[in-house]
Amino acid sequence: MRNDELLALDRAHVWHPYGPMPGRAEPLVVASASGVRLRLAEPAEGHAELIDGMSSWWSAVHGYNHPVLNEAARGQLDRMSHVMFGGLTHEPAVRLAARLVEITPEPLRHVFLSDSGSVAVEVAAKMCLQYWRSLGRPAKRRLLTWRGGYHGDTWQPMSVCDPEGGMHQLWSGVLQQQLFVGEPPAAYEESYAELLRTAIARHADELAAVIVEPVVQGAGGMRFHDPGYLRVLREACDAHGVLLVFDEIATGFGRTGTLFAADQAGVSPDVMCLGKALTGGYLSMAATLCTSAVADGISRGEVPVLAHGPTFMGNPLASAVACASIDLLLSQDWALEVKRIESGLRAGLAGAESIPGVRDVRVLGAIGVVQLDHEIDMAAATRAAVREGVWLRPFRDLVYTMPPYVTEDADLARICAAVRAAAAAG
Ligand SMILES: *Cc1c(COP(=O)(O)O)cnc(C)c1O
Repeated sequence: MRNDELLALDRAHVWHPYGPMPGRAEPLVVASASGVRLRLAEPAEGHAELIDGMSSWWSAVHGYNHPVLNEAARGQLDRMSHVMFGGLTHEPAVRLAARLVEITPEPLRHVFLSDSGSVAVEVAAKMCLQYWRSLGRPAKRRLLTWRGGYHGDTWQPMSVCDPEGGMHQLWSGVLQQQLFVGEPPAAYEESYAELLRTAIARHADELAAVIVEPVVQGAGGMRFHDPGYLRVLREACDAHGVLLVFDEIATGFGRTGTLFAADQAGVSPDVMCLGKALTGGYLSMAATLCTSAVADGISRGEVPVLAHGPTFMGNPLASAVACASIDLLLSQDWALEVKRIESGLRAGLAGAESIPGVRDVRVLGAIGVVQLDHEIDMAAATRAAVREGVWLRPFRDLVYTMPPYVTEDADLARICAAVRAAAAAG
């Protein structure tokens, strides 16, 4: 298909993320991708290829078109790409679940596989509400979270996204009313810890669970906080009989420097959500893990089953690639690679502080963020990055990057130059 034909059809028929219909901004057409490079159907700003600074929204940690992941997909394709999970099971899903239990914090033992992060959060909420219902406490049906979070775009996840800064303000009167405390400060402050304890204590009778993104709040604002708050949440939840859910969909698989962000606090949640990098960015898949206590509680109820079962649950193709992606990650010194990227981002973004309009520059693990003091001109900022030969997707007041772990130093330097250029242009 010719590029102009494709774009005309795209504009006429295809909805893009968070976009209007018909689309207002013209997307770039990607013909293929390999390593950390996206090959464009037609050059943009003189570049036939762009270095990917986004890992396709945190997911493509090993880069694109990876021979090991390709082989895993091909091998599984020849056996079966899908089979229903009701009444049937298969090695890829079983191996994946066992592997996830092995690498996540100790008490997580049971795995519910689903098709996207939002669904994994829906399942987490359902598990928590049903747990209390089964124990004869149906009034414990609300969730508590801190402001500035993002947990997905379906209804339950939307209700715990930041009610103002998030993308779902329109629905504030429609969504279930959850409980919010203020955004976590970056550094540990005892007064904020006390605020968390007080909120949990005061609302314990109506709270099913506390749900947070540990250490890094992603799409809600790219904010970092002291892992000590996770210990405060764990202690307060235990003290007052509230479950604790960690949404590690963005932070899982090494992004923050530890395999899971929870590891930085030495804290285990009762329920954990994984997604995004789970399949190395190849296929849509997510997982909700829970402890035996949660599973046993649900099983003791009047309705002892978890009534959830996506058509593509445990998809063999996605499971096989997820297993290969995890093996590939753990077979190398991934922590050293993330450290290397962290150093490169620190060095490359240091100069951004002096750009007019820049409010803050922060780096953690393989995440680099430049925050402006104004709403960004997304088109101008994106174009500035493309001019540097880099793909970035700025939003709100943020230009940020979370590159694939395989990004070499020279490419990383170019990504940093593009972040600076986008911040200056936006
Ligand atoms: C992306 C994300 C989700 C939603 O995942 P989808 O696969 O897009 O539905 C949920 N929680 C967090 C923390 C995320 O970053």
